[in-house]
Amino acid sequence: MKTLVVATHNKNKIREISQILPDWEIVAEDSGAEETAETFAGNALIKAKAIAPRHPGAWVMADDSGLEVNALGGAPGVRSARYAGEDGNTPANNALLLKNLTGIADRRARFVCAIALLDPEGHEHVVTGHCPGVIRTAASGANGFGYDPLFEPDGFDRTFAELSPEEKNAISHRGRALAELRRVLGG
Ligand code: IMP
Repeated sequence: MKTLVVATHNKNKIREISQILPDWEIVAEDSGAEETAETFAGNALIKAKAIAPRHPGAWVMADDSGLEVNALGGAPGVRSARYAGEDGNTPANNALLLKNLTGIADRRARFVCAIALLDPEGHEHVVTGHCPGVIRTAASGANGFGYDPLFEPDGFDRTFAELSPEEKNAISHRGRALAELRRVLGG
């Protein structure tokens, strides 16, 4: 069985990756690296490279994701987790997003997920998944996390937070990036 080391401490991500790559042994390790790049791919590479030296001979991956809003010039973007300043404060992030979109008719946005993969020889592979949609004027739904209650994916009249995990994974930026990852890994 081949081993894939994943730079995360997020149990949901590990479960999702294990489901999509059943033939791989998934090992999780937090990179502890600071996400200083201006792109999702750049940050994913920083995290993957931080843990790779500790796992010679293994495949290593890291992801980075966030929300890009057209009318805000792509913000919150790579700052999605810290949009309102405090790292990971979802209520504050969501409140700021609604405030910054007050009176703005163009509500188009997309979630983006970049996955960086280092093969055992150290070669870099990057795959990306997108999910386009619109930002609602009020939160709705209790599933998921982060901006999910505000994001209505194209083709649905429900927010991400109103979809089941299976429905969300089938169309989400992360689900699409993981499908690409499986293709790269030959699964
Ligand atoms: P991470 O890079 O996957 O840790 O995501 C960074 C931030 O982007 C999260 O803290 C959320 O604010 C936002 N985000 C990423 N993916 C999602 C999602 O699927 N739903 C809602 N928010 C997300």
